[in-house]
Amino acid sequence: MSYFIIILSTMFKKKIRCTNFSLSFQTCWNEEYKSTRFFILMGKVLDEVQSNYGKLKIYIDGNFVDSKTDTWGKAYNPAKDEIIAEVPFSTKDEVREAIQSAQEAFEKWREVPITTRIQYLFTLKNRLEENAETIARIITQNHGKTIQEARGDMRRTIENVEAAISVAYTLYKGEHLDQVSQDIDESVVREPLGVFGIITPFNFPSMVPFWFLPFAIVLGDTVVIKPSEITPVPMDFIAKIIHSIGLPNGVINVVHGAKDVVDELLSNKLIQGITFVGSTKVGKYIYENSAKYGKRSIVQAGAKNFIVVMPDADLNKAIPSIVSAFFGNAGQRCLAAANLVAVGNIYDEVKRKFVEASKQLKLGYGLDESVDMGPVVTKDAKKRILGYIEKGIEEGAKLLLDGRNVLVQDYPNGYFIGPTIFDEVTPEMTIAREEIFGPVASIIHAKSLDEAIDMINKSEYGNASSIFTTSGYYARKFRREVNAGNIGINIGIAAPMAFFPFGGRKNSFFGVLHGQIDSVDFFTDRKVVITRW
Ligand code: NAD
Repeated sequence: MSYFIIILSTMFKKKIRCTNFSLSFQTCWNEEYKSTRFFILMGKVLDEVQSNYGKLKIYIDGNFVDSKTDTWGKAYNPAKDEIIAEVPFSTKDEVREAIQSAQEAFEKWREVPITTRIQYLFTLKNRLEENAETIARIITQNHGKTIQEARGDMRRTIENVEAAISVAYTLYKGEHLDQVSQDIDESVVREPLGVFGIITPFNFPSMVPFWFLPFAIVLGDTVVIKPSEITPVPMDFIAKIIHSIGLPNGVINVVHGAKDVVDELLSNKLIQGITFVGSTKVGKYIYENSAKYGKRSIVQAGAKNFIVVMPDADLNKAIPSIVSAFFGNAGQRCLAAANLVAVGNIYDEVKRKFVEASKQLKLGYGLDESVDMGPVVTKDAKKRILGYIEKGIEEGAKLLLDGRNVLVQDYPNGYFIGPTIFDEVTPEMTIAREEIFGPVASIIHAKSLDEAIDMINKSEYGNASSIFTTSGYYARKFRREVNAGNIGINIGIAAPMAFFPFGGRKNSFFGVLHGQIDSVDFFTDRKVVITRW
């Protein structure tokens, strides 16, 4: 493993400031673009925080405890096909204990002044900043995404803590109307409800829990989190950071496992509501069962996202953004592009430039700073994605770029699939309809914007759609007519910031309130007080 130093200061000569937070890493930023942080790394390129994290513990009532379960899963490093941790599938009793502890904590936590609750989040934000590089490296190791992508996760994670702090100071306030009738006033006060279950997917192991966790606790609720059993290691580390900020015991609990744990969270009477992010199949189950057990739920689910390229698009700007939208995170983002619709006579040029640029992507272990694309998350995921590629060929699509037999030197056992691009895809084909969740792109030709919008609106999913154009008319028409929750205009990944709801429609979302800012309504109830004096 070679040693290197990234000399960013030559690129951003002006006003660079850095903070040392460990021997090996510095976080630096350009004073002129404060939100853009980047890291200077000094040390071994492929430094892993630990090579193995052993048997993970569960975090209940402020204690890290060994699970008594007989059922253990394995967490892998997908670039190496190596086991990096064992994950306990918590027993029903352990989940109940976590819920009970959260319930007892809630009675006291809701009494803690909000100004004090906020202080915990300030400390949490600072500790996450200090450990951001470490957590990002664990994310890469367990999930496979590149270190740059993992750093992006961490920025979004921290931004949600910042948003939760500001929400508590602003939107949490109630409403009041004097003299609604003679000598009568009416007010609405927001109150926390109790214990919430947070169930998260494999692909954003730090960010997705933080769409909910900081909002819930700052608003006075308590939580039991169940991370994905595939990528549990980052949350294991984050739980240690949470522990270090000195929250009262039981405010945040972390249990591990899969369906059995989820079923206990769904059916337990003390749980007030569930947040779920994951596939549509499981999402429907969560939504139905939340209703059955009388709980509120936020359910964000699967996707099949479209990018439309109009004949007037500026391809020099569009192509890099499109490539990243399809192949960033190896296509394992709910906002990842899946279908590329080229409209009119730009079709041939889009196809050529997209394939050329995608061929340049370097695959490898994401801890190598020069790598553009990591492996997919599991052996099963790889098998599923290869199955879809076979299906595409069977159904008559033309394979322009084949990522099936890619060989990554040094990591021959990794679950790698190279960028794969199909042409001559029709909207009816399986690869154009079903969520593949991997680095597979389908190019579809449309004669007009109307035809492209019609394809998007016929999809059973409605998570995100983007258009590349230089026309305000096309952009506005697209924004108004496309039935999807997040719309990108000259943006490939339409990812809402923490201060906006994370949209979704049709089979990509169930419920009314979304993640991030909608949490204020989700994690509180409005009590109406009518007063006569
Ligand atoms: P998944 O549905 O397999 O798992 C999500 C969570 O549900 C995990 O914690 C898992 O343990 C649990 N789970 C799995 N099977 C279950 C069952 N039968 N009963 C109860 N719980 C069960 O999803 P995943 O593979 O981890 O994540 C990828 C999916 O998440 C993709 O479909 C992606 O589009 C979606 N996703 C959506 C968004 C969004 O905001 N819409 C964001 C990220 C990911």
